[in-house]
Amino acid sequence: MRDDPRLDEAKAIPIENIAGMLDIPGLKRAGNEVTGPCPVCGGVDRFSISPRKNLFNCRQCGGGDGIKLVELVQGCDFRAALAFLCGEAAAPVSPEEQRRRVRRAEEARQKSEEEARRYREKAIHAAKKIWAEAAGGTLNHVLHYLDRRAIRIDGLPLCLRDIDRHKYYQINGREAVHVHTGPCMVAAIQRPDGRLSAVHQTWLDPAQPNGKARIVAADGRVLDAKKVRGSKKGGAIRLTGALKSDVLVMGEGIETTLSAMVADTYPGAMYWAGIDLGNMSGRMRPVDGRRWSGLPDMTDKEAFYPPPWVKRLIFIQDGDSNPTMTRAKLESGLRRAMALNAGLVAQIVHPGKGVDLNDILMGVADAG
Ligand SMILES: [Zn+2]
Repeated sequence: MRDDPRLDEAKAIPIENIAGMLDIPGLKRAGNEVTGPCPVCGGVDRFSISPRKNLFNCRQCGGGDGIKLVELVQGCDFRAALAFLCGEAAAPVSPEEQRRRVRRAEEARQKSEEEARRYREKAIHAAKKIWAEAAGGTLNHVLHYLDRRAIRIDGLPLCLRDIDRHKYYQINGREAVHVHTGPCMVAAIQRPDGRLSAVHQTWLDPAQPNGKARIVAADGRVLDAKKVRGSKKGGAIRLTGALKSDVLVMGEGIETTLSAMVADTYPGAMYWAGIDLGNMSGRMRPVDGRRWSGLPDMTDKEAFYPPPWVKRLIFIQDGDSNPTMTRAKLESGLRRAMALNAGLVAQIVHPGKGVDLNDILMGVADAG
């Protein structure tokens, strides 16, 4: 068993991923380590995982590598732990062949990580350039647009800027085709550490009923007036500034989230836009063939999670063509937040079937 070829494969799995596969609840990052209640003895102050050393330790239950962690949590033996991590033993492969496979997989992983990192850095650089350019804007375009959407606020959020003449490029494979130039609302997307990692752009046109530009490609297709540049994963558009509450309300879009803020649904709360459902949800774990399980894949380290000051997290469910999927994604995000932040209270609010919060607010404003 100890020379089972799956052993190398199992040892190559980062222990953080194994913790994710085991679904250990309540783990939080603390410096170089990940800590939380021990999944076996329940002790709250003694369990930790070191991704750097690829080891775990409980001061009561003991410690070891990822395979040992599976044995401990599943209460199983080495053989079963290996099967959990790598599947049942396959047809015998020579040790040299196995080593070659592990090395090839590792090389491929490093190469794709390096490429992804370079691409991300370029995109973040481009986002910072757009944000800097938007510093020269008058904010008049933003004010007119929000007014059109019946969102009337005193003092615009600092995360919103505008550009008078901003170019829109349609991306066709590797080629960027310039299809439109016009006023654009630019929103800062900030990472958990507060750094700008992307911008959210909404091209505007006061002549259109919804205030957004109608952008048409050369082939006649109408393109989305909204575009993100940079690396949005894990980020948020922080519509409220200085921290003054431990309640965080999050909708997908800027308009929905601002509408909730203007309606003062949760007085004094912080309001952040989560950009899109995928970002709010993070990766989901398929269960029994169900794709929309509502259960978070905790190995997704780039998904959004609320900062530690959040004690109550409220996701706004928009009107959507696929409510089952939407609901599952929101639940996945909330469960992830609860797993990473012990004691967090989470809830979903939705203003009604087929309408988003902004629709309701506009209705009220128009009637009054
Ligand atoms: Zn323990």
